[in-house]
Amino acid sequence: MLDVELDRFRELHPRCAALHERARGSLFGGVPMPWMMLWAGGYPVAVESASGSRVTCADGVEFVDLCLGDTGAMAGHSPAPVLEVLRAPRGITTMLPTEDAAWVGEELTRRFTLPRWLFTLTATDANRTALRIARMLTGRPRVLVYSYCYHGSVDEAFAVGEGGVTVSRAGNVGPPVDVAQTTTAIEFNDVDALELALASGDIACVLAEPAMTNMGIVLPDDGYHDALRALCSTYGTLLIIDETHTFSAGPGGCTRAWDLEPDLLTIGKAIGGGVPCGALGLSAHVEERMLAAVEADYEDTGGVGGTLAGNALSLAAMRATLGSVLTDDVWEHTIPLAARFADGVRAGFGEREWNVTQLGCRAEYRFEAAPARNGTQAHLASDPDLERYLHLFALNRGVLLTPFHNMALMAPTTTAADVDRHTAVFAEAVSTSGR
Ligand code: PMP
Repeated sequence: MLDVELDRFRELHPRCAALHERARGSLFGGVPMPWMMLWAGGYPVAVESASGSRVTCADGVEFVDLCLGDTGAMAGHSPAPVLEVLRAPRGITTMLPTEDAAWVGEELTRRFTLPRWLFTLTATDANRTALRIARMLTGRPRVLVYSYCYHGSVDEAFAVGEGGVTVSRAGNVGPPVDVAQTTTAIEFNDVDALELALASGDIACVLAEPAMTNMGIVLPDDGYHDALRALCSTYGTLLIIDETHTFSAGPGGCTRAWDLEPDLLTIGKAIGGGVPCGALGLSAHVEERMLAAVEADYEDTGGVGGTLAGNALSLAAMRATLGSVLTDDVWEHTIPLAARFADGVRAGFGEREWNVTQLGCRAEYRFEAAPARNGTQAHLASDPDLERYLHLFALNRGVLLTPFHNMALMAPTTTAADVDRHTAVFAEAVSTSGR
């Protein structure tokens, strides 16, 4: 059945195939970034145009885009207010501040409550910077993460806990040192394991998504975040909350929706409407401690910052996105759409014991009866062949899903009809899948 769909994909996309063939002459894997090798058709569709919730490929096929650049385009593709700032009246990069910077800082404080911000170009870099700051402030070497988390290409986070031992995640490319030296990996939602790890006294920070979103969506148990906050405070460990994907939960992410109190907060992707950006929020006491560390060279070669970070274009794009596109009221439109998606998918399961979870305007299905409580459970519920089939089936019928996720994300431009289109395609795919 996969072969039938692969044939159909090749028939529909001869120009995309030719472009891919040409790109193989100059690009590693024939793609500009290795993740793009993973598309279910064997090669990616090449984009001719993208606008709102639609992508049209080089073969003229139009897709409903529920992938949205794996969250980078959660604001919809090329929203008008962002296009406006791309004229760059304040330059693109000058290594000088603009008024937009203060506006964005104020807006991020309004949304996420942390009082101070600095900017990066990616969420990965916001996380790397957060880890450096946490190590400096605590004088401790280790980072705690959850098994099967993802926080960008952050060395410390490619870790899995197996029977109390931290090992590298499979496929980790060239780790600088054995990850067991830098990281303690435990399961999400396991308060006892958390306390045991923090009690060692050598953990600088916990780097946590408030709900895991990179191995399905794994929601926190009731009370887990209270325990996490309390234990971090007890053991002098800093709590870094990564809102890069969980921004789907609402205008202030889970931090505002669930009243979390992180010491540092990281975010990137969606807040720039697709223009590279990242932000790191600092609580008042973290800022105070950073300023007290007079030996720290923030201004030059201390390892914090970058030439293009906080550039004028990036800040203008964040201002346009937060001020005019992903405004507070947008979630009133997008959260019900994600619920509609989840209901539609659930109805399509038929007799199958699968589940679907939702976090704000994001929903994802997995192939097990009950939603996973941690990353390892979610990992074990993967079925790569089935996932590929479902993705390809949808792709061949005009619906784009994120590779490596069974996830759909709703943009302000997504409509109920878009969701219903996926529901119909999903039901048809499942009924033919035989699993
Ligand atoms: N944090 C989380 C939770 C993510 O899912 C990702 C990317 N998927 C990142 C950080 C890193 O984002 P980027 O690749 O844009 O740096």
